[in-house]
Amino acid sequence: MVATTEAPAAVVQFSLELNEEQLQLQQWVHEFAEKVIRPAAHEWDEREETPWPILQEAAKVGIYGMQFMGHISSDPTGLMLPIAIEELFWGDAGIGMALQGSGLAVAAIAGNGTPQQIGEWAPQCYGTADDIKLGAFCVSEPDAGSDVAAMKTRAVYDAAKDEWTLNGQKTWISNGGIANVHVVVAVVDPTLGTRGQASFVVGPNTPGLRQGVKFKKMGIRASHTAEVYLDDVKVPGKNLLGGKEKLDAKLARARDGQKSGEQAALGTFESTRPAVGAMALGTARAAYEWSLDYAKERQQFGRPIIQNQAISFMLANMKMEIDAARLLVWRAAWMAKTRKKFLNAEGSMSKLKASEVCVWATERAIQIAGGVGYVRDAPLERFHRDSKIYTIFEGTSEIQQLVIARAISGMHLA
Ligand SMILES: Cc1cc2nc3c(=O)[nH]c(=O)nc-3n(C[C@H](O)[C@H](O)[C@H](O)COP(=O)(O)OP(=O)(O)OC[C@H]3O[C@@H](n4cnc5c(N)ncnc54)[C@H](O)[C@@H]3O)c2cc1C
Repeated sequence: MVATTEAPAAVVQFSLELNEEQLQLQQWVHEFAEKVIRPAAHEWDEREETPWPILQEAAKVGIYGMQFMGHISSDPTGLMLPIAIEELFWGDAGIGMALQGSGLAVAAIAGNGTPQQIGEWAPQCYGTADDIKLGAFCVSEPDAGSDVAAMKTRAVYDAAKDEWTLNGQKTWISNGGIANVHVVVAVVDPTLGTRGQASFVVGPNTPGLRQGVKFKKMGIRASHTAEVYLDDVKVPGKNLLGGKEKLDAKLARARDGQKSGEQAALGTFESTRPAVGAMALGTARAAYEWSLDYAKERQQFGRPIIQNQAISFMLANMKMEIDAARLLVWRAAWMAKTRKKFLNAEGSMSKLKASEVCVWATERAIQIAGGVGYVRDAPLERFHRDSKIYTIFEGTSEIQQLVIARAISGMHLA
């Protein structure tokens, strides 16, 4: 017999298995979504109002607030964030957005603010279980949606008073006008395009900031969306995120024509887009699970409808597409956390794929359920109405494709 030498076992560094902490988080958030969010979803969709009692309950158990965001953002693999968001949005997208909307303002403060500014303002975007607060992130304007460089809201500095005056109109703002803290992006030098913009914190009850029209929406109706007007809004110098010195240095570099931190800015967007992908996964999975159960129960021609390939293949494709989208979302979240460069705009890929899958899968779910899918007694029509937002906010599908095309070509394509 010939003796064989066994090769040493390879060190496995790659795994798609969730660890104990991730599994526990997933289960905990899922239970909250199942017991508290899901049963309230229809009511708050109909009321089209911020679901304050649900936010309060979430804060009580630790699912709304700085601590929760800190916890889910601390995972070195980056996966806890998309895992938690997927479960919340599985419960309901409108309530999910009411819970996550403040996170947009917090991300802007954390991304641009000094440690003192983060310490002062981020907790005020959440408040406490007894006194819930919200944050709002105000970028979009009537003439500046996808084209952020067209922004008109101005910020003018008065050095004698160390004070900024903001004037302009924002639109489509989640929590706009009802938030405790508004983070407002404004133009400080109109000759420099996006490089001449800066972010300001407008604190509670600041005169001159008011809500305009509150929009009646197709979906995510438990999330408040409104116009925000800024008329001679005065904010102290300390409310400029990052501080004046940093802004002056940035403006000087731009005026000198030095290369911008475009890669850094792209990196910031790329790292937040997987979160929107995770929201879309939650809604898509909710629709898939509901229609799978229904297809096994509903009998026509003497057998469950799933026994027709037309139905079972639809469900097979839904499952496959949702899993494929999740892999892209997890990859991008892992890249963001481990500071990998998004050379091919992998963050945009994850948001684009998951949002388009969500619109498609929720529509298929309605087809599988027939008439039951079309009425408000069942949640499928709501899932489909909710799904559409993911292809619009935080960059439309077309803008994601543009970002990917630019990244892979290295060219400034229009
Ligand atoms: C419910 C909701 C909540 C929101 N929350 C916030 C918020 O909290 N804060 C905030 O600042 N904003 C928010 N937004 C705004 C959102 O980010 C914008 O709606 C989005 O960026 C698109 O801008 P727009 O609506 O002006 O569309 P437009 O930019 O006018 O786009 C219209 C169409 O033209 C296409 N298009 C535009 N430019 C190009 C191009 N170069 N190439 C190809 N196609 C193009 C778009 O893809 C789209 O199909 C929210 C929007 C909604 C609906």
